This record gives sequence, structure tokens and C-alpha cells, in this order.
Amino acid sequence: MLRNMAGPDPRDILRIGPATLRNRIIFPAHLTNFAVDGKITDQHIAYYTARARGGAAMIVTEEHTVHRSDRPYEKLIRGWDPDVLPGYRRLTDAVHRHGTRIVAQLNHNGAQGSSMYTGRALWAPGPDPDPLFREVPITVGDREIAELIDGYATVATRCVEGGFDGVEIQCSQASILRAFLAPGTNGRADRYGGDLGGRARLLVEVVDAVRAAVGPEHVVGVRLSGHDGTAGGIELDDAVRVARMLDERGAVDYLSTSIGVATETLHLVEAPMSTPHGYSLFVPAAMRAAVSVPVVGVGRFTAPQQVRTALAEGVCDLVGAVRAQIADPEFAAKTLAGRDAEVRPCIGCNQECIGRVGLGRWIGCTVNPRAGRESTPLPAPRMPGSRVLVVGGGPAGLQAAATSARRGHTVTLCEREPWTGGQIRGAATAPHRGELAGIVTSLEAECTRAGVEIRTGIEVDADFVRAHRPDAVIVATGARPQRPAWAGDSAKVVDVRDVLEGRAEPEGRVLVVDDLGFHQATSVAELLAGRGCAVTVCTGGMIVGQDLGLTLDMDGWTRRAHAAGITQITDVMVTGIVDADDAMDVSLVDHRTGTGRLLVADAVVVVTHQEPVDELWKKLADSSFPVFRIGDAVTPRRAHNAILEGDAAAIAV
Ligand code: SF4
Repeated sequence: MLRNMAGPDPRDILRIGPATLRNRIIFPAHLTNFAVDGKITDQHIAYYTARARGGAAMIVTEEHTVHRSDRPYEKLIRGWDPDVLPGYRRLTDAVHRHGTRIVAQLNHNGAQGSSMYTGRALWAPGPDPDPLFREVPITVGDREIAELIDGYATVATRCVEGGFDGVEIQCSQASILRAFLAPGTNGRADRYGGDLGGRARLLVEVVDAVRAAVGPEHVVGVRLSGHDGTAGGIELDDAVRVARMLDERGAVDYLSTSIGVATETLHLVEAPMSTPHGYSLFVPAAMRAAVSVPVVGVGRFTAPQQVRTALAEGVCDLVGAVRAQIADPEFAAKTLAGRDAEVRPCIGCNQECIGRVGLGRWIGCTVNPRAGRESTPLPAPRMPGSRVLVVGGGPAGLQAAATSARRGHTVTLCEREPWTGGQIRGAATAPHRGELAGIVTSLEAECTRAGVEIRTGIEVDADFVRAHRPDAVIVATGARPQRPAWAGDSAKVVDVRDVLEGRAEPEGRVLVVDDLGFHQATSVAELLAGRGCAVTVCTGGMIVGQDLGLTLDMDGWTRRAHAAGITQITDVMVTGIVDADDAMDVSLVDHRTGTGRLLVADAVVVVTHQEPVDELWKKLADSSFPVFRIGDAVTPRRAHNAILEGDAAAIAV
């Protein structure tokens, strides 16, 4: 197949089968956990509609399961239930009003699930349990396979009846079709196993059945894994051969791509900040060179220029940007209009999108306080045209200022440091954490566009506040480090913020003591190892960086720590230090056994809970104007809480 590899502009229209797309940016399928009783909710409709209004050419909804045997998590859309139809119609009508196409993804998760919700055995091509769920499935026979194919066709019919422009068949992250395709999970000896043609037979039969069900007037796409990253998983050569097979049958209108498996290699599916942009574009590039239908590329697109480059280089025909559009629902429109500087970028933190969904909660976003809350209308300002004083220029204060100004208030933000950004500035200096700075730069730019007066290097006290004669004050004064009692007054013991913010430079043998289990300890450990220190991290937890599992940062940290020679000690508490001239002895106790040990270090970096800086808020308690306290000044938490509370306080003015 010869094909012009020079790529299009994001603004170019594109035909996929019977449908015309108004541009080249789509919102691909991802879990939201918005469903209630397996049905579409107002939360779904508002969420998807916001991205349609924001310029997306096509939305592919999260998966709709095609069979009762499949329920890996509670809030799955049950396409097999005829009662989903009214919700389908409300959703598709709302999205279509903005000129956006919408297709439903159809799926069966196979062994990548649990019997917890259904009480039934899992279905799979063979008896191999998924390494995450560890449940032995039944091997489906001809009867179950016929039921499955019928399920896909029936749900596809229901989707187009409900107004969808078509359907996308998942053969990627968590799919029984992918498991049939992969040699490692398909050891069958019947016609659905064996060589690639046999392993792809079920996918082909499903595609044919779905096409027969929806007809040529609706879109049929397939999302195909190009690299599972697992032993015995799908690899690119086979994926390209399957793509060509589907293309030559003429049964699909587009191919969407993916990388990774949603259980064993989820860090490839939702790659965290440490993964380079475009890391998975080798998959659409190879497929596009082999097929005639449009190909969707995904790969951690967070900035408009990345979209333009991928298209211009002929890597793909359509760009699929999930997190970029969660973080900024107008990402597509801003990209098309060249308003790059106005994008609030996804920072790849995975905390409130994949991390929240992994905990069974509905999807949100660290940098977008409205993500997942689009269905809750914003009240009108209670005190229109107020003079708002925001004290503190971390993420909480910046968000409060930006939202306040956007809602018509006259806003002054005062920050004691010569810069804004709070703790984010220091955190962003660590290796692989630089994109955190996007929180600050985008909020600052938003404040500037909205007319906020930002004054840095200003120490605000109660007299300053009263002299300002505000109508409302928002106190976002942050938190300060606490020193553990065992540290005494040793100058060799410093706080993690001292290191990340450049006030301390430990050398030699450094022990990092982690009470928080998140990025702070691993960041400072990598920073110091990179400077040549011999770093040990100890924690009372069972693993260092316990919460990195949820954000999919654990694999990267583990590999990098190993490469950098960072030692990790778990299940220990520090009970004391003996500070000598040249070094110090640190006493550790294993809290499981009570046994002690000594560790010699030249310096200790403490990563522990902070305390709120709330003195100003207390002094303003009897003010005649409303005073709001937000973010770490309430109690130290993560950036998302700060941004959420900044937004909420501004909305309350
Ligand atoms: Fe991106 Fe983080 Fe928002 Fe997820 S939570 S969309 S990774 S900024």
C-alpha cells in the first residue's frame, strides 16, 4: 500500500466511512466511573458535552459491555441492558448539538476482571488468570463465542438506535478480543487459536457481525493494541498484519491504536509524567503505513504543538488526546485556533484521573477543578464586582485569584516569596517532575489574562489586609515543615523542602526518611543520587513510595532507583540519632519485629507531615468581610485539594 506520508493540519476535515469529522482531534475512550446502575448519567452528558463544546471532532465513549458475564468494576455501562437506551439518546443529542461525532466503544473484558460483581466465572480464550486479578477463567466454547458475537451485534444495534454515529470495538487494553489475539493467552487448538489468522478469527467475526448490524451508514472502528508490553502479548508486527487484514476486508472505517495492557502494563496505557511525549507513536506510524483507513495515534499529547507535529510528520490521521482534554475541555478549540498559551496543560500526574478511577471514584483532574463536576451548575457571584484579596500564591491562591477574576471581581494576589507557585516550584526541580511547573505557569498566565494584580515579595499581616479594604479575603498561606523530635537540633538533619527549594545541599551518605509515601521522598532521592550522593530511603510502609502505585509511577521509580543504586529499607521507624563530628548514627527499629539497627549517614532528609500556616487567618477571625481559608493553610494535602478549594472559595464570593 503506497500512501502519501505527508500529514494534515489539525484543522483539516476528514471522512471516516460515512461520517465527516470537522477536525483531527478526538476524545478517545477512557473510564469515567460516572455510570449508575450501568446507565448513562447527567455527569456523563455534561462531561462529554464540555469536550464537544470545546472542539473535539469525535468522542469515543468509555466501554459499553456487551455481555452479562463481564463486570470488572461497579460503574460499567451495561450495553446489554435495553434500559440504557434513553440515556444513549440524551447523550448523543447533547454532543451532536456541538457538531461532534460520538461513537460508543463496545467491549468484553474477559479475564481482566473479577467475578465479585457478577458471581459468575470469567470468560477467556484459555485458563490463564490475569496477573492483577489472579482469577482462573473458564475457557469459552462455541456456545459462549456465539453469545459474545451476538452481544457485540445487539449492543451495536442499540447504540445506533440511541443516536450514536457508530461503534468502536475494543481489541486493546482490557479485552477478550485482545486476549484471543495474543499468543500468550490463546493456546487454543480449535479454529479460534493457532496462527495469527486463527487468533484473529473472533475479532474478524465480531467486526463482520457489527457491520452487518449497523450497516454502511454508521461508523465501525477498531481499537487495536500495537504492543502489549507483556510476555506473550501482542507485538507490533502481528498488530500491523491484523490491521491490514481488517483493512483489506473493508469492514472498518478507522483504526485506533493503543499500547499496554490495562492490568499488567497499565503504566504504558496511561503513561505518567516521567514518560516522554509521543512514546507510543511508533504504533500508529507503522499501522498508517500499512492500511488505507484513517489511523488514530495516542501518546501523551499535552501541548498543541505535539498534535501538529504528529500530524505533519504523517504519524497518524487523527490525534487521540484524553488527558489533555480532561485537563482543558477546550484543548481542541485552542489548538485549532493557535491559542497554545491559553491551554491549561495536563501534567501527567495521574492523581485525579486514573488514580481516582482506580479507587472506584468518578474521574477528576488535578489541574481542572471542574472535571467530573460539569453537571453541577455554577451559581452567580454572591457579591458581584467585589474587591478580593488573595494571600498566598501557591496553587490554591492562584486558582482562587484566577476564578475570582474570571467571575468579575477585582483581584489582588500577594505572595511573600519573590515568586508564585508555592511548593510546586521546588517539587518541579526534581528529575522527571518538571511538568509540575505547568500548574504554576498556566495559572499565572490565566491570572494575567483575567486582570489579577500579582504582587510578590509582600508580607501580608492583618493591618495590611484592613488597609486594603477588601470585600473578601482568601487566605492561602500554605504549610510549613515540621521537625521530628528525634532530629533534635542537628544541622545534618534537613527537611525535604530545604533540599528541593535549594536551601540545603546534603552530600555523601544521605538517608531519606519517608513518612508520606508519595513523590516527595522519591524525588529528593533521585535528585541527590543524580548529584553523586549514596542515597538510602527508609519508610515505615511496606514499600517506598506506596502511593506511586495508584499514579502508575511505581514501575518507573523502581527501575530508576535500581539504576541509580538507591537503597530502599521498609517497615522501619527512626528512633534517634547520635550526631558526631564527621557523621551520625541513625537508629532504626523494624516495627514488625522490634529489632533495631544502626545506619551511618552524613545527612538525613526528613519527608514528613507539615503544619498549616494559619496565623493570619486566625487574626482575621473577627473581620467584617468574609474570610476564606483554603489549601494547605487548612491542613496540608495535595495540589488537587488546593486547586479545588481555591476554585470553590472564589465561587462562594
Ligand atoms: Fe492530566 Fe493529572 Fe489531570 Fe490526569 S489528573 S488529566 S494526569 S493533569
